[in-house]
Amino acid sequence: MMNYLNYSLLVYFQSILSLIGSMITNKRTIIIYLWLCLVPVCFSFWDVLHANASTEMIRRKQVEPTGKVIWEVPTQKKVIALTFDDGPNPVYTPQILALLRQYEATATFFSIGYQMERYPQIVRRVVQEGHELGNHSMTHSYEDRVGFERMRSELIRADKVIQKYQQNKPKLFRPPGGYIDNLLLQESIQNGYKVVLWSTNQDTKDWSLPGAQVIADHVIRHARSGDIVLLHDGGGDRKQTIEALKTILPVLKQQGYQFVSVSELLNYRNN
Ligand SMILES: [Zn+2]
Repeated sequence: MMNYLNYSLLVYFQSILSLIGSMITNKRTIIIYLWLCLVPVCFSFWDVLHANASTEMIRRKQVEPTGKVIWEVPTQKKVIALTFDDGPNPVYTPQILALLRQYEATATFFSIGYQMERYPQIVRRVVQEGHELGNHSMTHSYEDRVGFERMRSELIRADKVIQKYQQNKPKLFRPPGGYIDNLLLQESIQNGYKVVLWSTNQDTKDWSLPGAQVIADHVIRHARSGDIVLLHDGGGDRKQTIEALKTILPVLKQQGYQFVSVSELLNYRNN
């Protein structure tokens, strides 16, 4: 549940600890080592203590009719939007782009600002190949933990990064973890954004590595016109997601589905 930056620091500490652990030779170093072990523990507590428990998240019933928050799009047309979160990733995003090209599919990438700054050439490729970039915050923080002010600045900072690659396009924001309260919703709207979540029947949980076949079966079995499918191109090992796509893309294409970006999907509302 930690945000991206804290998570990276924790991983860093853990690797230093295992290095020191391997060098321990006497009692004194063991004591120093044990004290050092407390650092990541304190770090986790700090993260939990700073959680903003009072944040009340938006309710679907109330906000969906406004059209400012989208879970899926009611339509009769056989169109589906594949979305990839938490990238860009130098290993997995290019493989996904190649598969999308192979099956003439367009998708939306809800990318993390910090990752976009690290891999500008991949972001450029995403846009050049006709896909859409969505805002997924700067460091993948959860609003229920870091609060509104931090999310507000992350939304705006990530927007500045996206504008370098994609101008005059619809602005889509997917809050990490789906956490968004009314304040952040209003802020998103003021900045020209629509909030895009995902179809409840299309949460593949590919991040939990359930197996490529399970991911593919889930998407294919639940596929309905107007769905927004949640997948991941970054944030961990995404081999299963890529393997699943090798089934999802041809099978749904065979069934007559067209893969479109989220902003294109919105044009099919009630069509
Ligand atoms: Zn995410």
